[in-house]
Amino acid sequence: MIDLVVRDALIADGSGGPLASGDVTVAEGRIVSVGEPAQAGPGTVEFDARGELVCSPGFIDVHTHDDAALIRYPGLEFKVAQGCTSLVIGNCGFSGFPATGVEDIESIAGATWPDLDGYRGAVTAAGFACNAMPLIGHNTVRMLAVGPADPRAATPAELEAMRGHVRRAMEQGACGLSTGLIYTPGKWAGTEEIVALASAAAEAGGLYASHMRDEGEHLLDSVAETVRIGREAGCPVHISHHKAGGRANWGKVRDSLALIDESGEDVTLDFYPYTASSGPMAEYVTPETITRDWADRNRFGNCPPFPEYQGRGVSAVAADEGITVGELAARILAAPGGRRTISIGFGMSEEDLLTNVQYPQMMIGSDGIPDLDGLPHPRLFGTFPRIFAEYVRGQGVISVPEAVRRMTSLPAARFGLAGRGSLTTGAHADLVVFDPAVIRDVATYEDPKREPEGVHWVVINGQLVYDRGRHSGARPGQLLRFRTDS
Ligand SMILES: [Zn+2]
Repeated sequence: MIDLVVRDALIADGSGGPLASGDVTVAEGRIVSVGEPAQAGPGTVEFDARGELVCSPGFIDVHTHDDAALIRYPGLEFKVAQGCTSLVIGNCGFSGFPATGVEDIESIAGATWPDLDGYRGAVTAAGFACNAMPLIGHNTVRMLAVGPADPRAATPAELEAMRGHVRRAMEQGACGLSTGLIYTPGKWAGTEEIVALASAAAEAGGLYASHMRDEGEHLLDSVAETVRIGREAGCPVHISHHKAGGRANWGKVRDSLALIDESGEDVTLDFYPYTASSGPMAEYVTPETITRDWADRNRFGNCPPFPEYQGRGVSAVAADEGITVGELAARILAAPGGRRTISIGFGMSEEDLLTNVQYPQMMIGSDGIPDLDGLPHPRLFGTFPRIFAEYVRGQGVISVPEAVRRMTSLPAARFGLAGRGSLTTGAHADLVVFDPAVIRDVATYEDPKREPEGVHWVVINGQLVYDRGRHSGARPGQLLRFRTDS
C-alpha cells in the first residue's frame, strides 16, 4: 500500500548533487522509491509538483530552544511552516531535563522528571509535530549539582555528579553536551570543568556544542577554547550561532573560520541569517551595568510585566517614561515575570552573514525563542525560507542543492539523526515540497509571527502535517535517540 506520492518533483536528495526529476513514494513512514514513476493505489495521497517544486528531506533546525515548546506548542507551527521536520533541542547549556525546578518547563507539563527518559515520557504522552534530538545542557546540570547562583568552581564531588547526568543522558539517547558560557551559572565554569563533562559525552560518541564564552572582542580566544575542549575531551565540536557582535568586531567571523581550518580539528557550526540577536535581558544587563549604547541597540521582544513595551526600543521607552535606562531596567527586572523579558539587539554585519553562509561546514539554526505571547525575533518563523530568499535567489551565493545539504544531510550526520536527512529508499519519510522561485520569509521585527511563503507540503514520519498554509494537527514527531534508526 502506497500512502503518499509527490509527482514530477525536482528532487534535492540532501547530498548537494544536482537536482533530479521524478516521483517520490512513501509507504508506512518510509521512502520506498526516489525518482522512479510512482505506483499509486486507491488510498494514496498525491501531490503534484508540476516539474517546478523541489522535494527535499525535511529541514533540520540544529539550534532550537524548543524543549518546552514540545509541550507548550505541540503543533510547532512556527517550525513546520518553514519546512522543518527535526529540531535539535537543549542548546546553549539549557535542556528540558533533568528538571531543575527553576525553568518553567515542568510547570507547563505539570510534572517533573529526573532524566531524559522522564522528559521523553512526558512529551511523548502528549505528542508533538516535529522530531527532536536532545543535547544535555551544562547550565541545567550545574544548577542541580552546584546551585543556580554560586559563582565558583565545582568541587570534585559536584563535577562527578554532573558527569553522571551527562553519562545517563547519553545512555538514554542524547547526542552530546551543550554549553552556554555567557549565561548563569555556566559562565563560572573553567575550561577544565567543560573538558571533564565533554569527555563523558565523548565516551558515548557524542559531540560538544557550545554557545561560546565571548562572541565579540574575544571571539578568537573563545574559538580556541572550544577547539581545545573538543581535542582534550576527544569529541567533535559544534559552534552555535557563529557571529561577531559589535561594530568593532565585524569581519572577525572570517578570522574565526580560518582559525578553525588551521586547527585541523573536526568542527562544524551554525548561524541564523539576521543581524540582530535575542535572549533574556537579565543575562545581558543589570540596572547597574546597562549602558546608553546597549539601550540604543536593543528593543523589547517579550516583556511580561509591561506588554506595552514590546516592539519598542529600550532608550525610547526610558525617554517616554522620563526615567534613565538604569531605572527602566530596575523597574522591569524587579517586576513579577520581569526576568523573562526578552531583548532583541542589533549588533552584527550583513557581510559576516555572507561569510558564514558560504562556509561548507555551516549549518542553519534558528535560535528562535518560542514564546508567542510577545514579539519574538523573526528568526523563529523565518530562518529557513530566508536562506533561500536572501542567499540562494537574492545574492546567488549558494545553490538550492547546497542549501538543502546544509539543512539536511550535514546536520543529520553530525547530530546522529539516523535514517534522516537524505531522500533515499528506506529512509524515514520526512519531506518538504517548496517552490524555489517563491520561498521566502515574511516575518519582520515589527510583525514577527507570520508564516513564510512558498512552502507547499511538509511530511513527518510519513504523515502530512502542513498543506499549503494549513496545519493538519497531526503530531507524528518522535524524540529521537542518537544514531538510532527507529
Ligand atoms: Zn545561545
